Amino acid sequence: MTDTTAPVIAQERRIVTSIPGPKSVALQERRAASVAAGVSSALPVFADRAHGAIVVDVDGNQFIDLGSGIGVMTIGHTDEAVVAAAQAQLEQITHAMFTITPYESYVRVAELLAAHTPGTFAKKSVLLNSGAEAVENAVKIARHHTGRQGVAVLDHAYHGRTNLTMAMTYKAMPYKTGFGPLAPAVYHVPGSYPFRDGLTGAEAAARTISHLEKQIGVNDLACVVAEPIQGEGGFVVSAEGYLAALQEWCTANGVVFVADEIQSGMARTGRYYASEHFGVEPDLVLSAKGIAGGLPIAAVTGRAEIMDAPHPGGLGGTFAGNPVAAAAAIAVFGEIERRDLLAEGPRIEGVLKPALLELQAKHPVIGDVRGIGAMLAIELVEPGTTTPNTTAVPKITSYAAQNGVLLLSAGTYGNVIRFLPSLAISDELLREALGVLDEALASL
Ligand SMILES: *Cc1c(COP(=O)(O)O)cnc(C)c1O
Repeated sequence: MTDTTAPVIAQERRIVTSIPGPKSVALQERRAASVAAGVSSALPVFADRAHGAIVVDVDGNQFIDLGSGIGVMTIGHTDEAVVAAAQAQLEQITHAMFTITPYESYVRVAELLAAHTPGTFAKKSVLLNSGAEAVENAVKIARHHTGRQGVAVLDHAYHGRTNLTMAMTYKAMPYKTGFGPLAPAVYHVPGSYPFRDGLTGAEAAARTISHLEKQIGVNDLACVVAEPIQGEGGFVVSAEGYLAALQEWCTANGVVFVADEIQSGMARTGRYYASEHFGVEPDLVLSAKGIAGGLPIAAVTGRAEIMDAPHPGGLGGTFAGNPVAAAAAIAVFGEIERRDLLAEGPRIEGVLKPALLELQAKHPVIGDVRGIGAMLAIELVEPGTTTPNTTAVPKITSYAAQNGVLLLSAGTYGNVIRFLPSLAISDELLREALGVLDEALASL
């Protein structure tokens, strides 16, 4: 049952202690003594509870959350429908293991994914626990289907931290350095980064395809994995026509085209999946972050003939497609429909983008403003150049945190600030956060 006695969190910013406050400082000491140093946090502030677009820390400070736990809390923190669905499922059956005794919610999530991922062809899904696991399984499926081993990924990509996926991720530090040997048969090829390469979509696609043909060779290439909008890499939106040309080449050459929509999917950009903005219908689509309102579940969804390639028993996992997480995912799909949340991405873009462009005119440190829907970013440069400004971002995110706004960084050069607000955020909170950003930029 939903706990109706839980205090409602007012959707407002409120700083009542120094940041971090005394309780966070005390927890930070315990954490330093007990949690491995390799796990880092953007802020030394410990979260206590959250609702909608507001996170409350253990000292009672309220932050406007423009990160949503990296695009996970897309429909809002502690969404009533998600909480109720998960609570009810928890009491009904918590774990059954789909590979022992299947249950309906897993099947329902697969049906919803088939209905809402791009393309009207017959689709099937496998459910997993994390984004990296979805990437790993997409590669397994593509290899089994094609009988080829090569995996091509784009420069600036982020696909995870497991052994295979860290090899597929672009940035050495912190993701790969010291963790080798890296998985073989993973090839990094240049993609499209209009702000930095100045190429048209056709030119960038020709460059990518040349690398695929010359460096790897079609006969050894199982799949190309691409994020329709690159996440950790800095919210890079490829030039017009790039992704469509890449997909067309994949189709012509029997290469599986995989869209990693783990960050860009689930209504964040005003469509269920960002691929739709670029006119592509990927063979396989990956979902994770926003799919279940914070519960861990992920999926590979794609063409039935590709998905059915691996033999029975070849895919799965103990917790994969857990009933509580599946119930939460069904609730998220239901809320997107019921509240017409596909309209919220464009609303948020309509408030944020013009304001960010105004800030760019005022603060020449902003070199580029880009993104779609509730997935926007600014790239910071040395004014008048495209040279990455590597020192401004931590100053801005720290200033914002001191003033009650949670902002996330991104980018290969660490010079991007990304905006991933919940679709439940109000225009008023967005404007307030923009005011803090303006002050932060002025304070540089
Ligand atoms: C976060 C992310 C992943 C990895 O997901 P995890 O759940 O952290 O393993 C993979 N690809 C993209 C695009 C992501 O944003």
